[in-house]
Amino acid sequence: MKLLQNTIFILIAFSFFPSGIKAFSATKYNLDVSINISTSEITGIARIDADAGKELLLVRNETLAINYIKLYDKPIAFNEDNRTLRIVPDQNGILEISYKAYFRDNREPRENAGTGGNVIDSRGVSLTNAWYPEVEGLHYYSLKVTLPKGYEAVSEAEEIKNIKKGNTTEFYFDFPHPLDSINLIASDKYSVKKATYNDVKVFAYFFTEDAYLANSYIEFTKKYLQLYEGLLGKFPYKRFSVAENFLPTGYSFPTFTLLGNTIVRLPFIVETSLGHEILHQWFGNYVYVDYKKGNWAEGLTSYLADHLYEEQKNKGWEYRKQILTDYKSYVTAENEFPLKDFRGRVDSSTRVIGYGKTAMVFHMLKMMAGEKVFFDALKDVVKENPFRMASWDNLKESFEKSYGQDLTWFFEQWVDGAGLPEISIDDLNEDLYGIDNKLKFTVSQKGKVYRLTFPMTVYIKNDAVTKYLAVDKEKNSFEFSFPERPDKIVFDENYDVARDLDPEEFAPLIARLLGDTCLLIAVPRENAEIYSSFTEIFESNNPVKWNEENIKNSDIKLTSLIIFGSDNPLASRIFGKTAPEDAGFSFIVKENPLNPQKVIGIINGKSKMEVDAASGKIAHYGKYSKLLFENGRNIDKKIEQSGRGIIMDLQEDAPAVDISTIKKLSEIIDSVGDKKIVYVGEAHDLFAHHAVQLDVIRGIYRKNKKIAIGMEMFQRPFQETLDSFTSGEMDEAAFLKKSEYFKRWGFDYHLYKPILDFAKKEKVPVIALNLKREIVEKVSREGLDSLSNEEKKDIPTDMDLSDNNYRERLKKIFDQHKNAEGKNFDFFYQSQLLWDETMSQSIDEFLNKNPDYQIVVLAGRGHIEYGSGIPKRTFRRNGNNYAIVLVDAEIETGIADYVIFPRSVEGVTSPKLMIFLSEENGELKITGFAENSVSEKAGAKTGDIILSLDGKEMKSIDDIKIYLLYKKTGETVKVEVLRKDKDEEKKIILDVVL
Ligand SMILES: [Zn+2]
Repeated sequence: MKLLQNTIFILIAFSFFPSGIKAFSATKYNLDVSINISTSEITGIARIDADAGKELLLVRNETLAINYIKLYDKPIAFNEDNRTLRIVPDQNGILEISYKAYFRDNREPRENAGTGGNVIDSRGVSLTNAWYPEVEGLHYYSLKVTLPKGYEAVSEAEEIKNIKKGNTTEFYFDFPHPLDSINLIASDKYSVKKATYNDVKVFAYFFTEDAYLANSYIEFTKKYLQLYEGLLGKFPYKRFSVAENFLPTGYSFPTFTLLGNTIVRLPFIVETSLGHEILHQWFGNYVYVDYKKGNWAEGLTSYLADHLYEEQKNKGWEYRKQILTDYKSYVTAENEFPLKDFRGRVDSSTRVIGYGKTAMVFHMLKMMAGEKVFFDALKDVVKENPFRMASWDNLKESFEKSYGQDLTWFFEQWVDGAGLPEISIDDLNEDLYGIDNKLKFTVSQKGKVYRLTFPMTVYIKNDAVTKYLAVDKEKNSFEFSFPERPDKIVFDENYDVARDLDPEEFAPLIARLLGDTCLLIAVPRENAEIYSSFTEIFESNNPVKWNEENIKNSDIKLTSLIIFGSDNPLASRIFGKTAPEDAGFSFIVKENPLNPQKVIGIINGKSKMEVDAASGKIAHYGKYSKLLFENGRNIDKKIEQSGRGIIMDLQEDAPAVDISTIKKLSEIIDSVGDKKIVYVGEAHDLFAHHAVQLDVIRGIYRKNKKIAIGMEMFQRPFQETLDSFTSGEMDEAAFLKKSEYFKRWGFDYHLYKPILDFAKKEKVPVIALNLKREIVEKVSREGLDSLSNEEKKDIPTDMDLSDNNYRERLKKIFDQHKNAEGKNFDFFYQSQLLWDETMSQSIDEFLNKNPDYQIVVLAGRGHIEYGSGIPKRTFRRNGNNYAIVLVDAEIETGIADYVIFPRSVEGVTSPKLMIFLSEENGELKITGFAENSVSEKAGAKTGDIILSLDGKEMKSIDDIKIYLLYKKTGETVKVEVLRKDKDEEKKIILDVVL
């Protein structure tokens, strides 16, 4: 039943006091009205004390028709067009105003939420907004209302009297304290229940059909009166009523609260909003708010009601984190303002500042001095400001009195200044060796520097100790010694400080899209019209709307993005293809993998009706990451996990292996033998690694002849060549030449030869997994966006860019490369993913065509470890089980299923001519020599053109490599070269000893 929690607007009706008007200047205001329900008409006479020399400012409301205005019984001329009438009486007397008005309910149904307005009709009377001639300032009101027989009525009053006269009842309300306005609620459908709490009379006015709620409301009311009397002192009135309204209001007025009928029926209201409204009896309705200097009452009431109730359930930290999450979602540099400028909420950003940040400010005050001192200060606020407007300055006085210190810095920092501190932990220096276990670090602040008490919780074994750090500079350095190595250190894990959240603490949420003013909407190619109601929701964010096919990665990197349709190709390009949620409507928000500061939302609807039904409710579900609706009813909701507090990156405890569990390679082969896919990672140039791979292939083949070998080393366009070789149609030399092995892969073929020989002998298919090298290279230089439409046909449409751990590992590798300078990591990352996704797609395609096969995949270890490169991507595509075997890898949790440590293997590599060659216009020209080059020793010179080896014509570097593959070190090769010497060309044969 949380469904509607956010739909309720609990407001408190205050009008704005002109500054300078104090309680002592209040005059008497008698109002006598009669109400005709059938005509929605109210007629009345107001009699206001006119004191000589004291100005009365009458504010005309155009819905009121004024019959006459008289001073000392003499009519005063007034202009219908003037909004205000200023009267300065020259003697004491009475200002009398006769008026009438019609209050019909002509509000649009959609506008119902929030404002009540004035209504008189068969449901009853609800008058909360300038329904009588208002005179500015505070007045002692006494109200007489004549209603038809059978009506019950509530207004501000210490006591309500009624006199029945024939077909009418006269109600008398007297409130002997200065007020700026009065309100009236009445109905003939009320069932009234009465109780007492000490000397306070408690009333419940519920409509007959809701009368069963009265007991619960009365009991909770008593509970709250007890709670707040304990915290703040005596309840200020003799009477308190809970009144149900036929309009959807959530108001608190002196001596009563007015709750809409749709609200009172929600079971959680007694546990939340009722307490909030009752607390307003102290803050807002007893101590008034000096709005011109900032509305502090909503934040304080939220803190001591809504927040307190969560705190009592040990969930205070979650409430505070939600405030900071909302702040980061909705508040921008453009809409941010200081608390001193908060008047009332008009949207999400004003709510989170005025209610949320203010609540955090009171929390920090409480943390600073403890509960006793904090509540003593609040009691003083109540005692010093009865029926008076109090400003932040008055609050400051009370806090300083109770805290015994000057708090100017605190209020200047938090009330006068906008924004939140941005805190990070830097320069971590661990010296956890020796008896001291020293730890040094810096608490840094970006932008404006705040003075803060910043909590740090240290976890050692089963103990957690919290220390409070005094922070007041751009950088504050700290050094601590611990008796033992800490397991974990977390800063502000309970959200005791109002601060800008760390990215790790900030989950991807719908609110982040609702609050983002830099938004890109991907319009689907088809069925765009079913999402029109959602496009409207985001209209106020001024989004850019583009067709999905026009959106490039460089665009996504800049913004938050909304994708309509889970089958939208753009969703597959970013997160890989995922099965749509089983719901009429779904909204899923994920981190933007190209920009972790931004999010991506995928909205999917089965029909326009489903989308429309959900769209009206979405604003109230901002705190969720995933929402499912069926026929407009929420059926599932989830908040993505995010970090709690700022967690310090301590060195992890060292990984360790239990030697007694060590196994042999043959046992490992047995245990991976039944997996559909077995990945064996390698360092390309180590014979020992390839020997393990062949052992695994052989071991599985022994039990199942239907296996294939997938190889990173071959590129997809060369599959036919591989097939010709393994089937025996093509010999090895032709295969190496046709597959362009040396150009495209290049590692000594002897490393892979035993595996391919085995495949050929047993007719095991070898699958070329890799993408054409030209495309990978282009992407690593210029990014995915640079590919032509023709090139895009060769790459997978399905890519998952969202593996952050993989991204981080690749970033480390990228940064280590000296030649990375000037290169773009994004492009490098895209090329790696493209490579991985292509290989994964090749595996998937093979298994789709050959569902009864197992496959052993051979690839560089980087494509396999942690499952990030190929394995998880293949799993995403087909869900097949798999095992990961690495060779000589570091032991880290999750890196693989098995790590093999093979004996060393001495492989024989091909001998080399030890020359550098250029291959231009069919000429193989020597451009230089390796150190101690055998060819140089044999007399070769730079500029020589190689013609043949042992009489066999050489046309390409491949030809030379293939020829040498079959030679051994120590053998002699006759190298025929063409040498140009003084315009003379001659052929020379050199004997090169390999
Ligand atoms: Zn409130």
